[in-house]
Amino acid sequence: MSNTYDVTLIPGDGTGPEITEVVKNVIEATGVKINWDVVIAGETALEKVGTPLPENVLESIRKNKIALKGPLTTPIGTGFRSVNVSLRQLLNLYACLRPCRSFKGVKSRFENIDLVIVRENTEDLYAGIEFERNSKEALDIIKLSKGKARTDSAISIKPISITGTEQIVKFAFEYALKNNRKKVTAITKANIMKLTDGLFYEVAREVAKKYPSIVYEERLIDNMCMQLVQKPELYDVLVLPNLYGDIISDLCAGLVGGLGVAPGANFGTDTALFEAVHGSAPKYKGLNKVNPTAMLLSGKMMLDYMGETQKAQKLEKAIAAVIAEGKKVTYDLGGTATTSQMGEEIIKQMSK
Ligand code: NAD
Repeated sequence: MSNTYDVTLIPGDGTGPEITEVVKNVIEATGVKINWDVVIAGETALEKVGTPLPENVLESIRKNKIALKGPLTTPIGTGFRSVNVSLRQLLNLYACLRPCRSFKGVKSRFENIDLVIVRENTEDLYAGIEFERNSKEALDIIKLSKGKARTDSAISIKPISITGTEQIVKFAFEYALKNNRKKVTAITKANIMKLTDGLFYEVAREVAKKYPSIVYEERLIDNMCMQLVQKPELYDVLVLPNLYGDIISDLCAGLVGGLGVAPGANFGTDTALFEAVHGSAPKYKGLNKVNPTAMLLSGKMMLDYMGETQKAQKLEKAIAAVIAEGKKVTYDLGGTATTSQMGEEIIKQMSK
C-alpha cells in the first residue's frame, strides 16, 4: 500500500500561486498521494491577516516536516524582513541545496553543467544583526572599530560559527558520498575576512579529513566566479557561507539557462522545505506565463526526500522530454505555452 504524505503548501506571492497550482497537479499525477495543508505567508498574508509570517505557517511545517513553497516577495530596503530568511532561521533549515544541471533544449552558453551548490542558510550577513545609522549599537561598534568604520555608517554583522560551519560542510560531504560525487570545494574570501571565513576553512578542513574518498579543495569567491564561467567542468559540489552561496546559486542558474530551471531545497535535521531559486517575478503575476520547471524540479527533490525515487525519476524524465521537444514550453525557453499548458504536457508525458 502506498503512503499518503502530509505536506505544507505555501502558494507564495506574485506568480507563486499560478506556479504552485500547476506543480500540485503534476506531483499528484506522479501517483504520490499528498494531503496538502495550504497556508499563506509573505505579502499575501500581510494583506489578508496583517502579518507576513502567521504562526500557523510555522505550526504546519513543524507538524508535517515537509513543505513546498512558492516564492515570497520581500520589500527592498524597507518593510518586513524576508520571510524566506525567517523560515530558514526559525526552522533551523541550515542547508540549502541547489543542483544546477543542463537540460537539452534549454538555451545556454554552456553545456553539460552538473554542479551542486550547498549554501549555509542560517548565519553570516543574513543573520539579521543590523544596526541603523546613529543607533547606540552602531555607534558603539564604530567606536570599537577604532576608526575602521566611518561615524555615519549603518552596521551589519557577519557571524560564522563552528557549529554552523560543521553542520553545513558535513551536509556537503554526506551529499557527495550518497550521490556518488567526487569533489567538494569550499568557497570563501578568507584572505580578507581572516577570522570569519578563516574559521569556515579551519572547520571545513577538519570535517574533510573524515571523508578521505572525496577530494576537498578551496577557492576564493572572486576567483571562483571567473572559474565557473571559464571551466565549470572542474567543479562538482560547492559549499559556501550564506551570502556567497546566494550569489553563486544565481550564477550557476545562469550557466544552465536561467532561473526558470533552477530548483532548490532547504534542510534541517528533520524538516525540509522545497522551493525554486527564483523569486515571485511580480511583473508576470496573473499572466499564466512563467516557467513552472524550477518549482517542478524542487517537487522532484521533495519526492526523492520522501523516498519516492522512481516517481521522482519519472517526473524528471517527463520534464526533460517536454523541454527537449520544445513545443509546449514557456516564453523563457523559446516557446509560447502558458504555465498550465506546460504542466499539462508534462502530465501527458508521464502517462506515455
Ligand atoms: P525574480 O526571480 O522574481 O525575477 C527575476 C526575473 O527572472 C523575472 O523578471 C523573470 O524575467 C525571470 N524569472 C524568474 N522566475 C521565472 C520563471 N519561473 N520563469 C520564467 N522567468 C522567470 O527576482 P526579483 O525580481 O529580484 O525578485 C522579485 C521578488 O521575489 C522580490 O520581492 C524578492 O525578494 C523575491 N524573491 C523571493 C525568493 C524566494 O521566495 N525564495 C527568491 C528570490 C527573490
